[in-house]
Amino acid sequence: MSERFRVAVVGGGTGGLCLAQALHQAGVEVAVYERSRVRTERLQGYRVHINPHGSRALHECLPAELWRAFVATCGTSGGTFGFLTDQLDELLLVEDELTSGKDRDPSRAHHSVSRITLHQVLSAGLDGLLYHGKEFQRYERAPDGTVTLHFADATTATADVLVAADGANSRVCRQYLPNTTRVDTGIRAIAGKYPLTEETKRLLPARLHDGPNSVIPPSACGMFVAPHEMDDNQTSTVSGIGGNDQTLAQDAVLFDNTNSYVMWAYAANRSRYPRDDADLSDMDGERLRDVVGELIADWHPSLRRLVADSPARTVSMLPIRTSVAVEPWETTNITLLGDAIHSMTPFRGIGANTALRDAQLLARNLTAAARGEIDLVAGIHDYETKMIDYGFTAVRQSLRTAEQTISTNRVGRSMFKAALRVFSVIPPLKRKVFSDFGSS
Ligand SMILES: Cc1cc2nc3c(=O)[nH]c(=O)nc-3n(C[C@H](O)[C@H](O)[C@H](O)COP(=O)(O)OP(=O)(O)OC[C@H]3O[C@@H](n4cnc5c(N)ncnc54)[C@H](O)[C@@H]3O)c2cc1C
Repeated sequence: MSERFRVAVVGGGTGGLCLAQALHQAGVEVAVYERSRVRTERLQGYRVHINPHGSRALHECLPAELWRAFVATCGTSGGTFGFLTDQLDELLLVEDELTSGKDRDPSRAHHSVSRITLHQVLSAGLDGLLYHGKEFQRYERAPDGTVTLHFADATTATADVLVAADGANSRVCRQYLPNTTRVDTGIRAIAGKYPLTEETKRLLPARLHDGPNSVIPPSACGMFVAPHEMDDNQTSTVSGIGGNDQTLAQDAVLFDNTNSYVMWAYAANRSRYPRDDADLSDMDGERLRDVVGELIADWHPSLRRLVADSPARTVSMLPIRTSVAVEPWETTNITLLGDAIHSMTPFRGIGANTALRDAQLLARNLTAAARGEIDLVAGIHDYETKMIDYGFTAVRQSLRTAEQTISTNRVGRSMFKAALRVFSVIPPLKRKVFSDFGSS
C-alpha cells in the first residue's frame, strides 16, 4: 500500500459488511461500527433473492472460502417464475433458461439465501474489525479532513474516510446530505411464512412451491409468493454458516435458518385495508393474518390456505417507503452506500443487490487509491457518479413495480394480463421481453 488511510464504515448490514470484507482482503485498514449489541439482534429469517449483480459482487468481495460457504448454504427458489391470477390460472411462466439463471456459474447466477445466513457469511472473519453496540450519533470533521465519529455510548473513533452504510434511516446521510428525503408510498405490505414439509407441500398446488410467483388479481393489490427450499445437503452447515444461531433458538419459527418455507407478501394501498393505518401498525401477527384473510376471501382456496396456515409469529406489516432522487453533490472523504442513499421499495427484490454492487465498486476504487493508482477523492467521485446513476434507476424501477402492483386501473391490468398470455404462446416474443428478467 502506498497511501495509508483508515476507512470507518457505519452500519454492519449487507452493504457495509461486504465492503469491509473486500477492503480487509485487499489490506486496506477498515473498521465497522454497528448499532446492534449482538450480531443477531434485528435479523429475521426471510429469504433474500441474490441476482447476478449481487452474486458477482459477493464473489469478488468475499474470500474464496466464504464465497464457497455462501453457495453451499443457499436454498433454492425453483427456477420458473409464474404470473398467476388470484384463481391460480397461469398467465405466463418464465423459465429459468430464459433469465440469467441459465448461467450455471454460481458467480453469475441467481440465489435464494436466508437473511441470517447471508449475515453469517458477511460477518465471518471480521473479528477485531466489527464493533457491536456502536450506535452512531454524529461526526465532526477536523481541518486536516479526518473525521471523528461519536457514538451513543460516549466513545469516539477517528478515520480518514467515512462510509455511511447505516440503512434507510441513515443518520450519517441526515448530517451529510440534509436535503435528501424518503417518502411514504402509501403502500402497506403484510408478509408471512408458510412452513414447507412433505406434508404441508401436498396441501398446496405444485406451482406455489415450484418457483416464485406474482399473483395478479383484477385490481388494486397483489401478492408475491416465493419458496425457499433447503435440501438435505444444503442444511449441513459450513464452518458454522447456515445453522441456527444459538441466541435465536428460542424463537424457532421466526428465526429458523434451516427449514424450508414459502414466503408470501400481500400489498395494497393503506386505504384498501379495513382498519386505519395506526390500527394496522399496532396489530399483532394473528390480527394481520386475519386482515389478509378477509381481503383475499374470494381468492383461490390454496392461496387462502397459504396465509391461514402461516404461523402468526411469522406475519408482519411493512410500510413501503422510497428515496427521492438526489442531485450529485461535491465529493469529499465521506460517502454513502446501499439504503443509506438509495432506499427502494422491495417490489423488485434489488435493494440488497444494489448495496452489494455499491460495496464492490467502492472497494475497487478505495483499493486502487490505497495502491496509489488513483487519487482518493477522484476514486470516490467515480464511485458516486456511477452509483447515483444505477442506484436511482433501481429506485425508479422498484417504485414503478410497486405502483403497478396496487394499480386500480382495471382496464390496464386486463391488458397486461392479455399481453402475458400472448407472450406465453409466442416463445420468441417471450424470450425477447424476458431475457433480462430478474437481473436488474
Ligand atoms: C421484506 C423485504 C424483502 C426484501 N427482499 C430483498 C431481496 O429479495 N433482494 C434484495 O436485493 N433486496 C431485498 N430487500 C432490500 C434489502 O433488505 C435492503 O435493500 C438491504 O438490506 C440494504 O442493505 P444496507 O447494507 O444498505 O442496509 P441494511 O442491511 O439495512 O444495514 C444497515 C445497518 O446499519 C445499522 N445501523 C442503523 N443505524 C445505525 C446507527 N445509527 N449506528 C450504527 N449502525 C446503524 C443497522 O443496524 C444495520 O445493521 C428486501 C427488503 C425488505 C424490507
